[in-house]
Amino acid sequence: MAYCKHSTNTLSFHQDNVRFCTTLQEGPVISNYRENAEQLAELIIDAKRKAFEEVPAECSDCIYRVQEEPTEKKITRIDLFYWYHCNCGCFYCSYRDKTKGRFSDEVLEGNSLIYQTVKNLYARDMISRENLFVVWGGGEVGVLKEFPQLMDLFLKNNVNFIWCETSAVRYSDSIAKMLERGKGGMTAAVCCGSRDVYKKIKQRDKYEQVMQNLAKYVRSANKYKDNKKNPENVISKFIILEGFNNNKNEVEKWVLESKKYGLKRIEISMEFCWGIHTKKGQPIEDYNYELFDYAEKMCKDEGLAFNRNDTSARLMEQGIY
Ligand code: SF4
Ligand code: SF4
Repeated sequence: MAYCKHSTNTLSFHQDNVRFCTTLQEGPVISNYRENAEQLAELIIDAKRKAFEEVPAECSDCIYRVQEEPTEKKITRIDLFYWYHCNCGCFYCSYRDKTKGRFSDEVLEGNSLIYQTVKNLYARDMISRENLFVVWGGGEVGVLKEFPQLMDLFLKNNVNFIWCETSAVRYSDSIAKMLERGKGGMTAAVCCGSRDVYKKIKQRDKYEQVMQNLAKYVRSANKYKDNKKNPENVISKFIILEGFNNNKNEVEKWVLESKKYGLKRIEISMEFCWGIHTKKGQPIEDYNYELFDYAEKMCKDEGLAFNRNDTSARLMEQGIY
């Protein structure tokens, strides 16, 4: 049977619906949040059971299908992409059409149904306690009211690994707890090594605060002794933004500042969320290649672990947006 493990094992919570796919595919929609938590859990269980028996019609032409028989019956991946509110105002944010550029420090409720539904699915033993990977995307988790509650639920149920994107403007005890237990990692797009450039990109004068929060997270990750590389799970990302930071000087400052604040791993990325819409079909600019190589060399010299962002690397290999 040609199937995709997302249809059988992934749950993807978006703002308007619950879906199967974690990819850029639209795929089958399970619910539009019109049910209560018990009904929604029921719908999910039923949809997963059916997908196990037969490939959903929406998946028939999808490139992500593989010729295998599904075996794992429980949910092994949960994506939480339902949240757009943020405490920064980056111009390139992929959620700008939803937020209209608004941002604030206010902590808001996202969707309380999601916590209740996940809890219900755990109670029915539908979520793996051996092998669950959770990805937090969307807006800023530090200003999402139910973030600590969901984090505790996953930790209590022996989640394998949680990956969070965060602005790191607001320090989160929940992220620190996750790092201390060796249960996850986080990426913060700092994108510079100086206060003035940070302010231009993020619309917040919070550079120092962000770097101090990252230093605290590294200290939390250090408390986990079973994996010496755990501190590398705190990552500062540099997204190359034309006219803001696409020069060696800023990359150099970023690498040196990251080291100064105790970071062990950093990641460089092209800007593709915005670029993919505005530059589709155009060649990737030379400065991306130059700055990737420059950052890699600097990290080697400074003894930092280095990531080339996966999607960027793929795009750069093909040479066009
Ligand atoms: S086969 Fe494609 S459309 Fe279907 S669940 Fe998988 S990724 Fe989504
Ligand atoms: S920090 Fe991330 S979510 Fe927040 S505005 Fe910037 S890109 Fe968007």
